[in-house]
Amino acid sequence: MPKIFERLDKKKDKDIRVLANFISIFCRENHQLETKNVFSIKDARLHNSLGNKDLVLCQDCRKLLSHGIAKLLLCPYDPKPMCKKCETHCYAPGYRERVREVMRFSGLYLVKHGRLDLMVHYFF
Ligand SMILES: [Zn+2]
Repeated sequence: MPKIFERLDKKKDKDIRVLANFISIFCRENHQLETKNVFSIKDARLHNSLGNKDLVLCQDCRKLLSHGIAKLLLCPYDPKPMCKKCETHCYAPGYRERVREVMRFSGLYLVKHGRLDLMVHYFF
């Protein structure tokens, strides 16, 4: 079992769940034509962080999510600051922009669909 999962804590747990939810909304709404597969999770704790459900995503979104999860777990700061306020740009080139696009799209999506409760749940 990779050591990196020992870095999971409550805060990161939640951040990972938000990231996964946002990416899955984005993928569902924007990548209907892509071939999708279950995002495979080999670590039980990580599976638990993701709410014990299978995420079905296209290949790009699966890559983005695993990149995001790895970066979250490897974050050198404790507590982890909000990524958008952080001075360390740890995401690989291209990924940062994509994650921002995902966050913007899915955040708006939740607002438009009256899921302010989820936003409150995520950000406060
Ligand atoms: Zn996708």
